[in-house]
Amino acid sequence: METTPTAEVLAGACHCGRVRVTMPASSAGVVVCHCADCQKLHGNSFALFAAERSAVRWEGEEHIRWYRSSPANERGFCGHCGSRLAKRPVEGTRVMVSAGLFDSALPRTAMKNLWVEQKPAWVEAPRTGPMTPDEFVALALAEPIGTESAGYGYALRASSGNKNPPGVIALTWIAGKDAAERDRIRAHARQNVQDFLAEPGFISIVTGFVGLRGFTVTAWQDEASMKRALAKHHAAAMRELFAEDFVASVWTSVWTPSRINRLWVRCTSCGALEDVGDDHRRCGRCEAPLPERPAFW
Ligand SMILES: [Zn+2]
Ligand SMILES: [Zn+2]
Ligand SMILES: [Zn+2]
Repeated sequence: METTPTAEVLAGACHCGRVRVTMPASSAGVVVCHCADCQKLHGNSFALFAAERSAVRWEGEEHIRWYRSSPANERGFCGHCGSRLAKRPVEGTRVMVSAGLFDSALPRTAMKNLWVEQKPAWVEAPRTGPMTPDEFVALALAEPIGTESAGYGYALRASSGNKNPPGVIALTWIAGKDAAERDRIRAHARQNVQDFLAEPGFISIVTGFVGLRGFTVTAWQDEASMKRALAKHHAAAMRELFAEDFVASVWTSVWTPSRINRLWVRCTSCGALEDVGDDHRRCGRCEAPLPERPAFW
């Protein structure tokens, strides 16, 4: 079928033409995913344009079948001709549309190759372009690296701006049985962080994964605020652990400080290291304004 890309929109269609799609010509791409899922589902790699879902218009949507290809994602294909159309996260606002649906004369080259670790040997694909945080996480989880005694993974910090000293710290870890459970744990963790950020007594969380094991260090102004936040999505997630065959092992704990040491910030004018636990804003040695006081955690 004929499609005419204009400066503003890309127009594409499946092989039989029952499903048509337009998306902004500015959509990022071409990105090529070489992951094992894409190889199965596309017969090779998945060349895609990514855009906000709201910016992508489908026609013939009644012909699109959605298949849950992983706990976090679903893939769309034309129910008549089988053309692979798109991938989208179940929770999220983005969609990745197959580049093959669009006119083949698009003046584009591959910006990035993802999951090159899983590509077949007959495909040559250098990693190109900068990685997004999501790609970085996917990469860190795809190929565990480490030594006999140390494993490497990824970590992220989310903070509320609450500058009070922590009254309690929660330390937890949880291990999934496989990658699917790890994705499920991560989906719960994302929801938990949203609940935490809505609680004024929340200070910050540092969380991450090494292999199949996730960990959190969460700082709270007091135990009451922690309990309020944990009573939301976290409570539902804990019920799943005990009611279903979900996760290999888990440990949680709450700690109170035996000592909170001073908070030091270096003066950018004279180089003095200032104790800013009392939040004073001028250097005790040179009187210059000090950088903003960091949070305790
Ligand atoms: Zn079709
Ligand atoms: Zn893929
Ligand atoms: Zn100074």
